[in-house]
Amino acid sequence: MTDLLSLTPDGARAALSPWLAARAQPPYRLKQIVSRLWQRPIGSWEDATDLPAALRAELGAAFPLGRLALDTAQQSRDGTEKFLWKLADGEAIESVLIPEGKRRTLCISSQVGCALGCVFCATGRMGFRRNLTTAEIAAQVRELVLRDPATPPTNVVFMGMGEPLLNWDAVDAALTILNHPDGLGIGARHITVSTVGILPSLAQLARRPEQFRLAVSLHAPSAELRHELMPIEKKYRLPDLLQALGQFRRRVTLEYVLIGGKNDSLAQADELASLARPLGALVNLLPLHPGGAPDLMPSSRAQMLAFERRLNSRGVEAVLRRSRGLDISAACGQLRVELEARRKVRPQEHARVE
Ligand code: SF4
Repeated sequence: MTDLLSLTPDGARAALSPWLAARAQPPYRLKQIVSRLWQRPIGSWEDATDLPAALRAELGAAFPLGRLALDTAQQSRDGTEKFLWKLADGEAIESVLIPEGKRRTLCISSQVGCALGCVFCATGRMGFRRNLTTAEIAAQVRELVLRDPATPPTNVVFMGMGEPLLNWDAVDAALTILNHPDGLGIGARHITVSTVGILPSLAQLARRPEQFRLAVSLHAPSAELRHELMPIEKKYRLPDLLQALGQFRRRVTLEYVLIGGKNDSLAQADELASLARPLGALVNLLPLHPGGAPDLMPSSRAQMLAFERRLNSRGVEAVLRRSRGLDISAACGQLRVELEARRKVRPQEHARVE
């Protein structure tokens, strides 16, 4: 059975055209049906009341629409909402919706768990379970449109569970669905792919013509410290990553989680400035989420502000972000980790990065 929600709008048209022709349907049906996938989504073909009942039944049998089942939703005092979705095979993923004025940014997952084991990350401790399909990635946005069609997500960031560039084929197609006018229609500049820097897929992302934004998890100003915090440094080294970013045709954001006594000294701010300035990069400074890593301490507020000022004084645009949703476990992977602990699900063996 073809899963239309795993296909780009062009792919869905290609799958549907011969099927409709075989049923002698008028040509306008194709547009009508494709519009119900993403533009005016429906939960099931039964809800597409602009289509004849017999056709709805046939569509339901030939092209069932997969859904994500909402397991848990939590809302923080600051308005941040966190969703834990159950997948068809019983796995779970999460998305976080962050409202800010007119902007509604949805942080989505690209894998169940993550193999990369960054020491400050709850998802990393969970290990890798599997890649998400294109449909499961894009459905995190689609489900929220179905929930509240009047206020859909305006921005999407791939900063939930998983490393998107280790699931490139699915993410590549999901980017098309999110951005395409016949898909979810979200502007490329409102879609951010966040990565630790998987160089081969980074090159593929760079080749796409759309202006998708790129955020790179740096978290350390030297290869030595990065190696301690992020095991991926073994495979894709900081100097090679910086060189690849230098060739990226768009402005890059560097993500930097401030960890007390680890990477938050003013000397390290100077080192970071010397990497960020030649790239013209924006630096996002993030407070360490207290539940993200039991052995690490967040930087003090005073130190975070001093670090930000130091970068600015060195000619680097740096912004200290507020930690959103502190009362609802909004660090990546944390809600799932907490629920599993409560349910006593035995974690699977951690996958390794070669
Ligand atoms: S920070 Fe990102 S890449 Fe690192 S372990 Fe967590 S999910 Fe994986």
